[in-house]
Amino acid sequence: MTREEVKEFVEGNINRMAREFGLGDWRIRLDFPKGFDRTGNFQVDGRCHSDFKRQKALIEIWADWFEDCSEQELRETVEHELLHLCHAGIDDAMDTAFALLDDDEAPVFDRAMNLGYELTVRALEKLVAGVRAASRY
Ligand SMILES: [Zn+2]
Repeated sequence: MTREEVKEFVEGNINRMAREFGLGDWRIRLDFPKGFDRTGNFQVDGRCHSDFKRQKALIEIWADWFEDCSEQELRETVEHELLHLCHAGIDDAMDTAFALLDDDEAPVFDRAMNLGYELTVRALEKLVAGVRAASRY
């Protein structure tokens, strides 16, 4: 997909997809950074930043990442980023605990929480797939 096709798909579908997941009350802003985000040993195709108290989110999609991808792969990435909003309340609550940690503890805690968030989103993706499969009958 071209960068423009990625933007058109995401901008045209994000609010409907959010409503499908019961996230229609979130105000979602989009950004499409250029190039690729490579941090550490992994590559990122999308990222979700949330403000639980204000129900606002910023979803970043690295459009160039999808050059050789299908619309389905893009859809899965967008859904993945939206599902991160399901744990935004936990993230918000953990900010209080995070502030109490010292400099040695904070990075360990942060890594553990991020792994927990990714595992939670993967579980939610399976839940969505199961509900979709069941609704076809
Ligand atoms: Zn994720």
